[in-house]
Order: sequence, then C-alpha cells, then structure tokens
Amino acid sequence: MAVRLVILGRQGSGKGTQAVRLAEAYGSIHVSTGEMLRAAVEAGTELGLQAKALMDTGDLVGDDLINGIVAERLSEADVAEQGFLLDGYPRTPDQASALERILNLTGEALDVALSLEVPVDEVTARMLARGRADDTVEAIRRRLDLYESETAPLLAWFDERELLEKVNGQGDEEAVFARLADAVDGRLAVGDAR
Ligand code: AMP
Repeated sequence: MAVRLVILGRQGSGKGTQAVRLAEAYGSIHVSTGEMLRAAVEAGTELGLQAKALMDTGDLVGDDLINGIVAERLSEADVAEQGFLLDGYPRTPDQASALERILNLTGEALDVALSLEVPVDEVTARMLARGRADDTVEAIRRRLDLYESETAPLLAWFDERELLEKVNGQGDEEAVFARLADAVDGRLAVGDAR
C-alpha cells in the first residue's frame, strides 16, 4: 500500500526527525524540500545559488521554483509505488493549490496531513541549541513569523478537506512518534473501512 502523508510544524518542532521515522515505518518516500535545497546549495547548482541567500535569511524560496521541484519529484516511479511523506511542503497557500493540482494529475490522494504542535518558546530554544549554520536568531525569528503568516493558514485548508490531524509534539521522541503513528493508523483504518 502506498501511504501519502504531509507533515507540518514549526521549524524546530522535531518535524525532520519524525518525518524520517514515519517514512521508514510506512515505506513512503521522504520528500523534504529543505533537504533538496540544501543539497543543491552544497552541489553549487544554479538552483542552489538562487536559494542560498533566501535560506540564509530565513526567507522562503519562490513558489514557482519549489512547486516545479516537487512536481518533478512526485512524478517519479518510486513515489507512485511507495507513496510519499512531504516535509516542509506545502508552506504557502499557493503551494497547497499546486499540490492539489499535482495530485489531480497523478490521480493520487493524501491520506493525512499531520500538524506537529510545539509552542514557539520551545522551538526557539531547540533551534538555537542545534546550531545549524542558517540558524541565526534573526533567521529563526523570520522563519517563525513566516510560519504563522504563510503556513499556519494551511491547517484550515487541510481541515476543510478533512485531512488534518493535530499531534502534540512535546515530550520525548518515542512518545511523539507513537502519537503520530496512531494518528496515521487511525486514518488508514478509516480509509480501509470505506
Ligand atoms: P527547512 O529545512 O524545511 O526548514 O527549510 C530550510 C529553508 O529552505 C527554509 O527556511 C526556506 O528558505 C527553504 N524552503 C524549504 N522548503 C520550502 C518551501 N516549501 N517553500 C519555500 N522555501 C522553502
């Protein structure tokens, strides 16, 4: 069975770690736009050069660019076979619309959109502690602001489509993973019963 998931959450919510675990548990392909962009920066490609300055300040890379990258990745054979877990995408209303168009084209449907909920104070402390090169105080603040203004509205968007599951992201990694897996399993069970 191909499981198709989206995971949303503030930067520093533990989303990346949990995404890797979920993708492994459900056999889905982990599609992280942040990782794809960091790989492009590392490789010094044209895309990487365009993205780097924006990533350093915590700003978002343009919707058209990101939508193109994701559309291309989701059209590959491994995704059709195994499903996907989108991590860091969609991040704006325009990206959510693009995702809807991409899925209409491929004839696939999402199983669930998980929102990993961790308060702002806690994610700020966690991000400063992890010390990634693009984690300056200003960039962290900018990313959190953009999350509230651009990404948080997507929770309503997914909720309207009856796809949203909010999960408490506080506590240790194991406990959070168990909550996420429960939320996914609940959805998959409902899908099977239809
Ligand atoms: P992340 O690893 O998801 O925190 O992403 C790191 C950085 O990559 C972000 O701060 C953005 O600059 C850029 N980025 C990642 N995903 C997206 C996206 N879906 N739309 C726009 N920019 C993105």
